Amino acid sequence: MTKVTPAPIRLFNTMSMQKELLEPAVPGCVGVYVCGPTVYSYIHIGNARTFTSFDVVVRYLRYRGYTVRYVRNFTDVDDKIIKAAHETGEAPVALASRYVEYFREDAKALHMVEPDVAPKVSEHLPEIVRIIQTLVDKGFAYESQGDVYFSVRADKDYAKLSKRNLDDLSVGERVQPGDQKREPLDFALWKAAKPGEPSWESPWGLGRPGWHIECSAMSEKYLGETFDIHGGALDLIFPHHENEIAQSESAHGKDLAKYWMHCGFLDLEGAKMSKSLGNVVRLRDALEKVDAEALRFFFLSTHYRHPLSFSDKALADAEARMEYFYETLRKVDERLAGKDFGAGPVHGEPHRFLGEFECAMDDDFNSAGALGALSGLFGMMNELTDKPPVKDKPLVGRTLLALRDDVRKVSGVLGLFEDDAGAWLLRRRERAVRERGIDVAEVERLLSERTAARAAKDFAAADRVRATLKEKGVEIMDTAGGTSWKVAPAQG
Ligand SMILES: [Zn+2]
Repeated sequence: MTKVTPAPIRLFNTMSMQKELLEPAVPGCVGVYVCGPTVYSYIHIGNARTFTSFDVVVRYLRYRGYTVRYVRNFTDVDDKIIKAAHETGEAPVALASRYVEYFREDAKALHMVEPDVAPKVSEHLPEIVRIIQTLVDKGFAYESQGDVYFSVRADKDYAKLSKRNLDDLSVGERVQPGDQKREPLDFALWKAAKPGEPSWESPWGLGRPGWHIECSAMSEKYLGETFDIHGGALDLIFPHHENEIAQSESAHGKDLAKYWMHCGFLDLEGAKMSKSLGNVVRLRDALEKVDAEALRFFFLSTHYRHPLSFSDKALADAEARMEYFYETLRKVDERLAGKDFGAGPVHGEPHRFLGEFECAMDDDFNSAGALGALSGLFGMMNELTDKPPVKDKPLVGRTLLALRDDVRKVSGVLGLFEDDAGAWLLRRRERAVRERGIDVAEVERLLSERTAARAAKDFAAADRVRATLKEKGVEIMDTAGGTSWKVAPAQG
């Protein structure tokens, strides 16, 4: 077996603020850690965008020949979980495990690949206690009445990822009365137990971990003291990732991660989505209205680092685009079904689009550019099926086959076009029929009327039926395979 050399990939590193060549510590093998959800509510579409972005990063690295170990954690011990559990009257652990399952359902519904490891905080207390102890022993952390804090002043390069200045950060910050910490910027590694909260044994008494320490402990366990790519949403840079760096690098004396990748924000028609504003769109609510692949297409149509604006119109556009892709694939699949075009040359350069796709993705996972290359590919498919520039049918067939194979390759990277074209289009039509209140029996009746009129060469009558259907929001397509129909795009 020949060994494939992974292709060179450049990625933007938030640490250096530059694009860098990916050079994993172990050539060919990439360790990826992505900060996962805090499991106290359903994830929203902003979270879904972040996880989809890293889903595609991992898929693409594998496509390019890298062996990837993908770790995405669950924060199942947290203030927010405890608060939510008090509201529902559940045990925090029970509430968290319920939302772990909901997250898994959501991730599956959005066609995300499973991480290789999905560790939970509640199952890693020994590792967490061990790293806190190391930080205490090395003088980076101190105990105070059962709490343990990280001493930010003890870490010379604190805030190197966000490039913030410690004195600026401290402006206006005071240690509040009742606080156990020495300096306002110090953050909790361990919190002493309070009644009604989950707690574990530790050298500092019963308590539970602070938020940031879990990622230091779990990334070390599954990827080592230094690993390749650390990812998350933009708003995790400060303080979460900064604190992870402070903890891990102070404990081990080496870099936590070589490359830091951050996914941009998603807003709602220009407004920041936030729980306090009450304008949060949950992923599962979005998936009631829009197809999962169309939502992925919408996310991927903008580079992962850029802001993305969510609106019903943007979703409708994404779904219309997916419909175009699937209509093309249905046509091509019909054309290719059961035929053998033999070996021989192809027309033009069908594989150039895959080359363009890879070029875009090699450049910091530019999925927007990659989708642009796909437009070219689907354009060529349409040209070859609708008005082939050459008469040689086997030549056209071989070219379509080459293009269809490349779509399958791309499909595995983007998590798009994984469905059967006919099934996808039917599902979309059924949803549109429900939303627009279209009477399918009536549509079928009018279609057979039209077929009869055409058979009787009464084209005026056939055209009248087409016009009637159009008024009802139904569009008909006559193809080699017969007449099919779809719901026309909504007006306005
Ligand atoms: Zn984290």
